[in-house]
Amino acid sequence: MLRRALITLSHSATMRRMTSDFPPARRMARRFVAGETREDALQVIQQLNEMGALVTLDYLGEHVTDKALARASAEEYETVLDEIASRGLKSGVSLKLSAMGLHIDEKFCYHNVRDIVTIAAEKGRFVRIDIEESALVDVTIEIYRRLRAEFDNVGMALQAYLHRTRNDLQALIDDGIADIRLVKGAYDEPPDIAWQEREKIQQEMIALAKMMLTPEARAKGARMALGSHDDVIYNEVIAYANDLDVDPQRWEIQFLYGIRRDELKRLLAEGVRMRVYVPYGGSWYPYFMRRLAERPANLVFFLRAAAGK
Ligand SMILES: Cc1cc2nc3c(=O)[nH]c(=O)nc-3n(C[C@H](O)[C@H](O)[C@H](O)COP(=O)(O)OP(=O)(O)OC[C@H]3O[C@@H](n4cnc5c(N)ncnc54)[C@H](O)[C@@H]3O)c2cc1C
Repeated sequence: MLRRALITLSHSATMRRMTSDFPPARRMARRFVAGETREDALQVIQQLNEMGALVTLDYLGEHVTDKALARASAEEYETVLDEIASRGLKSGVSLKLSAMGLHIDEKFCYHNVRDIVTIAAEKGRFVRIDIEESALVDVTIEIYRRLRAEFDNVGMALQAYLHRTRNDLQALIDDGIADIRLVKGAYDEPPDIAWQEREKIQQEMIALAKMMLTPEARAKGARMALGSHDDVIYNEVIAYANDLDVDPQRWEIQFLYGIRRDELKRLLAEGVRMRVYVPYGGSWYPYFMRRLAERPANLVFFLRAAAGK
């Protein structure tokens, strides 16, 4: 109920305006967001690299309906990739197609993403396409497939809560282009297309991760990133990858910035390849609301901070 309400509010322009200008919300958002400027983000990458973690950097924005804004967002990625490379930081980038102009014109969006992937390839960096609500899954896979025909420094994410994902993943494995971040899924999807129960989604995510780690999938080039802070999932997947002695370059665990920092340190100390997803920029409101939706306790902290307690 609460999760659904918060995800619905994440789309509200009025709430976005009110929350973005509200100092306690800005303070709390800083827990999940590196900051509003590029320099804030680069400093956070540096700190995480010093701890031994890799990074994927996200310039916040989604559902952009203005061509100039989508183009500005693509240019920000190009500039930050240049900075990442010139400072020798260990970071790729993650992006959302809806921030690249998908809702304006698919061709325009494709060219924005292609420009970013081209620059990333020149700089030896990787681009991950995030996965958004279910209505965008087909077009995301289509754009990813087109890019993979030309580049190998690009991957995408898939959501374990969607019934269709096993088939989508198998097709990408069979075609030798499965460079995938598996996540549970952060949107509000109906029961006819998405699993709703926590245990079912956990089982599904473990099964999908194992599909990507089989010798057959690896022989076809599969590379798996597990985007989850759920220890039931990552403990089992880590044990499985270790049992099969999978090359550490072929799999990694990814956390969101600001979540389970103790576990991040523990897993790094155990030698697990860890990558942190670091968002930055002024458009943090929908991202922040999804983080509140994932954990009701965050809402309590937020309301206490708002009440000055
Ligand atoms: C690197 C990364 C990239 C992602 N990319 C996408 C994407 O492209 N598309 C998409 O739909 N979703 C994405 N997600 C979000 C994902 O779908 C889940 O909504 C999110 O990860 C919460 O699920 P969980 O697996 O961490 O498990 P949960 O069961 O939600 O969390 C496990 C534990 O982690 C901690 N935790 C989790 N979330 C929070 C939080 N918000 N605040 C504080 N503690 C928390 C708690 O201790 C909790 O008990 C991404 C997640 C990660 C980690």
